[in-house]
Amino acid sequence: MKNESYGILPDGRAVTRYTLTNRGGMILRVINYGAIVTELHAPDRDGVLADVALGYDSLTRYLENKPYFGAIIGRVGNRIGQARFTLDGQTYTLAQNNGRNHLHGGLKGFDKVLWHGEAVQRAGAAGVKFTYRSVDGEEGYPGNLDCAVTYWLGDDDNAFEIEYAAVTDKATPINLTNHSYFNLRGHNSGAILDHELLINASHFTPVDATLIPTGELRAVTGTPMDFTTPARIGARLNADDEQLRFGGGYDHNWVLDKTSPGELSLAARAHEPQSGRVMEVWTTEPGVQFYGGNFLDGSSVGKGGAVYHRRNGLCLETQHFPDAVNQQGRACWPSVILRPGEIYAQRTSHRFSCTK
Ligand code: BGC
Repeated sequence: MKNESYGILPDGRAVTRYTLTNRGGMILRVINYGAIVTELHAPDRDGVLADVALGYDSLTRYLENKPYFGAIIGRVGNRIGQARFTLDGQTYTLAQNNGRNHLHGGLKGFDKVLWHGEAVQRAGAAGVKFTYRSVDGEEGYPGNLDCAVTYWLGDDDNAFEIEYAAVTDKATPINLTNHSYFNLRGHNSGAILDHELLINASHFTPVDATLIPTGELRAVTGTPMDFTTPARIGARLNADDEQLRFGGGYDHNWVLDKTSPGELSLAARAHEPQSGRVMEVWTTEPGVQFYGGNFLDGSSVGKGGAVYHRRNGLCLETQHFPDAVNQQGRACWPSVILRPGEIYAQRTSHRFSCTK
């Protein structure tokens, strides 16, 4: 584990970059601004490393990270309809930063704050633990929320794990996730349409035209949302399907099939046939947002001068369902409310391997 300076924020605070490496040759680089994963190098079937995470070359570019490359998203990831919710009889109004809706924690979410970083160790893995206190009223949310996000890289297994924990002093919604974009052929390799994807979910949450869930859990059977057996991401993108039209492609939440809530289970498996790289995502969360990079538009210059065009990266954001705070009380929508005395905890692991 190595740390080094990654530049200075406009307010004078210093940003640090942490580098973790393992015996399998994997390299993970993270910074304490936004708790952003800036690089993730994984071997292909011949052992050749490639950086499979989209991102930028400098802090200056991360300050305007419109696609949320690699960042931790909070306090509430994904959308909140009409940017408001009611909790314990009180109505809270949030920033409308996505049409009339609220997206990814607001104008200055957890992706745009400076976290405190420290090196940590556990049996079989080395990590970096980031902590952040989101104060009562920040971005309109109630309660002081103390968050910890730890990035782990396995010593011997090519697993990159994210562990989340939080406590609050007032009831608040919380839905943390990581917004890394992957291209398993390498971050600068063009479209992700040839990746084969499996999502371990027989239902998804259909949305309206503004990407707010209607409240229905719909079976994927017979729709382009069916990834219960591996399918090329591009195969059904042009199908005549209202959900794909609303999302401009895939930008939906899948309801993960689990035998018991909160168990660590397979959410998704992505395979890139040319390199052979496979990434399995395992999570304790009930849902995953598969976002196919539909809004990437080549407008920002990435690492090594890379230009990320539409659908050049894919996100698998493990999460509670979008707009859950406005679906309170519905048994099929797991609650996102954290109360004083409770501990928010979740875990998501990215396991890398290769096909022959
Ligand atoms: C959302 C997309 C959004 C993107 C922002 C994803 O989590 O699902 O709709 O455009 O984040 O980069």
